Amino acid sequence: MIIDEEVAPNVRKIYELAASGVTLFRISAYLKKQGIPKPRACMINKMGKYVSVKYLKYPHDWATETIRSIIINEEYLGHLVCNKNTSKSFKDRKLIAVPKDQWIITRNTHDPIIDQETFDKAQKMALMKRKSVKETGTHQIFVGLLRCPTCGMTLGYNKRYERYATGSYACSTYRRYGKSYCSMHYITYENLYDIVLSDIKKHANAVNLEPERLLKHLTEQSNLKSKKQIAQSEREIGKAERRIAEFDNIVRRLYEDNVSGKISDDRFNVMLKDYENEQAVLRENLIKLKQEISTFSEIKDNSNRFAEVIKKYCEIQELDEAILNELIDKILVHEREIINGERKQKIEIYYNFVRII
Ligand SMILES: [Zn+2]
Repeated sequence: MIIDEEVAPNVRKIYELAASGVTLFRISAYLKKQGIPKPRACMINKMGKYVSVKYLKYPHDWATETIRSIIINEEYLGHLVCNKNTSKSFKDRKLIAVPKDQWIITRNTHDPIIDQETFDKAQKMALMKRKSVKETGTHQIFVGLLRCPTCGMTLGYNKRYERYATGSYACSTYRRYGKSYCSMHYITYENLYDIVLSDIKKHANAVNLEPERLLKHLTEQSNLKSKKQIAQSEREIGKAERRIAEFDNIVRRLYEDNVSGKISDDRFNVMLKDYENEQAVLRENLIKLKQEISTFSEIKDNSNRFAEVIKKYCEIQELDEAILNELIDKILVHEREIINGERKQKIEIYYNFVRII
């Protein structure tokens, strides 16, 4: 794909807005107001190979679908996507969309104009918005994040004015097919809101009070070495690498000693074998140590990124879609259980970068 430099800033703007939680509808209003024309490539993709004049009559009327198709387009990440459309036959050239799992994606074919993180965030907003078109109430802030851990489906929202609740969520499989397929996984909007808000606050304060603890917790959780032990591993790597570098010299001297008769052939073979075994062990250990260090630095990276985001929310009072999507990957709502006569419900919040903490 050749990135059109005139279009690229508009595409970036669309991603930026979506990633920060602006709805597709508001993005479309923004583009119209700014007088930004719809990209031709996008229209060709949507309308078929030949764009009729009537589509050019309103060049600034962005459909939310068009914006969505830009946001989910992996070509902006630098990948080449083929086989998105097909035609029925040679004669009938009308384009038919091919399911996404049959697309052919060749990675890193050109320079990306959107980074992966922005892409992922924007994508989530784009897909989520589509689901919430029907309902525009404020309760929709959780849509797209809630999952039933039993059947893996999303939870659906139900507007209901109960005594203590203005709405609730329940497993969509249960709703649709009944209790022989899944159980209810019911939670009120108010309960969920309080749980998520206080969890965010708790983690924000923890990160601010003890910045080191998050990384420690994450490394322990994945049975990884501590920061101190990793420093030790790094020293071991240095040692092993130096020893491996010596090997060539040792063998060369050994060979010379053998040629000059200082060492017998038998002795030479035994010693050579010993050195080779030592090298094999060292190399194997080296791979293991390097793997440990790279996993550790990946976790450290993610921990820092998460800390950077969450530490802003120590005093958070209200939740909105942008905050939830910035912080949270998904929320699993377990079925309620009675434990020792008390009703309990497990809610698992998976945060971006660090999963469950
Ligand atoms: Zn379910």
